[in-house]
Amino acid sequence: MREVEPIRLSALTTLRTGAAPERMLEATTTSGLVDALQDVWSRGDDWFVLGGGSNLFVGDEPFEGTVIRVLTRGIEELPSPHPGRIRLRAQAGHGWDDLVAYAVEHGYAGLEAMSGIPGTVGAAPVQNIGAYGQEVQETLVEVEVIDEHASEIVTVPASDLGLGFRTSVFKHHYGSVPARRAVILSITVDLLVAEQRIVRGEQLRRALGLDSDEPVPLSWVRERILATRASKGMLLDENDPDTHGVGSFFQNAIVPESVARALPPECPQWPVTPDLDAVTVIPLASFDGLVPQPAVAPAPAEVKVSAAWLIEQAGIRKGFKLPRSRASVSTKHALALTNRGGASAAEVSELARFIQSRVHSEFGLVLQPEPVLVGVEL
Ligand SMILES: Cc1cc2nc3c(=O)[nH]c(=O)nc-3n(C[C@H](O)[C@H](O)[C@H](O)COP(=O)(O)OP(=O)(O)OC[C@H]3O[C@@H](n4cnc5c(N)ncnc54)[C@H](O)[C@@H]3O)c2cc1C
Repeated sequence: MREVEPIRLSALTTLRTGAAPERMLEATTTSGLVDALQDVWSRGDDWFVLGGGSNLFVGDEPFEGTVIRVLTRGIEELPSPHPGRIRLRAQAGHGWDDLVAYAVEHGYAGLEAMSGIPGTVGAAPVQNIGAYGQEVQETLVEVEVIDEHASEIVTVPASDLGLGFRTSVFKHHYGSVPARRAVILSITVDLLVAEQRIVRGEQLRRALGLDSDEPVPLSWVRERILATRASKGMLLDENDPDTHGVGSFFQNAIVPESVARALPPECPQWPVTPDLDAVTVIPLASFDGLVPQPAVAPAPAEVKVSAAWLIEQAGIRKGFKLPRSRASVSTKHALALTNRGGASAAEVSELARFIQSRVHSEFGLVLQPEPVLVGVEL
């Protein structure tokens, strides 16, 4: 670990906001990262770890605590217990897209639809990243983590991470504290060894323009996804201000079916797959042939509603900005708020609040921001 002169967070985050924090540490090895965390925990400092800064909205006031930059790298191949598959373990600071590129190059399938998502491997489970219907939870086996104030590194299976739509036990929601305050040191994914695959998911097939069931090369899927993302400003590009944001700023709204029914029929909606009930284990000795009814009634069905549609129908067009503001909606994507050059966090917040209030007054729904908020309230 290395203590460095704190750098302005506007230079380390893709939304380009945030002053220099009080203190900054850098870790290029796992042991250095653990040392940095132990140092911060023993001092009782406020802290957070910074990966690629692509899902963070940082306020204008300096963060009064320590920011630890995770700069560990490396990919290791491990055998999979399943025939025809392989495992990759990647260090937390490794670039996510570099991991995807490695997998595609070596003919390992399962990550290719998530090509081009910015950020680091360690942050991928934090909001269960996903794109075009593929999510990291589909291939994630386990993560190595260190919990706040713990001295031991533990390996946690993916099933214990509370992975859901853009969430996990590690995610700060709307500025609140996560259920598990811990740092991911590495992740392990289990992938199919195959240079070609039949693309099944409807969303991905549509994005790729596929209408046959012929297998397609992983490299072809990757190229198509990268091109599509670039056309929507969803691929980081220094020269494209539409990418100077956090990707989707607002999450698609998840609402009860009854609420979704009240929205105009043109509003794009997708059913939310309900969580399956936990398996009831009945000891064989006491099993009398009858399976008891669940004690609670099934939860009402929920529906995911397109936040981009709600925003546009509330009168906010692509490229929209408030007078004299340097923050604007992306010119390519209604869900992305962008920094057009020198915008403060206050300017981005003002735009975000304006959009929230327009959508609320039109449709009665409060859009929830997707990035992690540090020193910002919305
Ligand atoms: C142009 C653009 C397009 C995007 N497209 C998508 C998309 O298609 N799908 C999608 O899901 N997301 C997308 N995102 C959001 C973002 O890329 C992901 O959320 C990504 O995983 C963030 O990684 P990061 O390393 O930049 O995290 P950071 O922004 O550095 O951190 C985000 C949060 O994770 C925490 N964190 C970081 N590293 C660790 C760690 N090792 N252990 C524990 N906590 C950690 C941080 O403390 C912070 O709370 C996009 C962003 C941009 C800018």
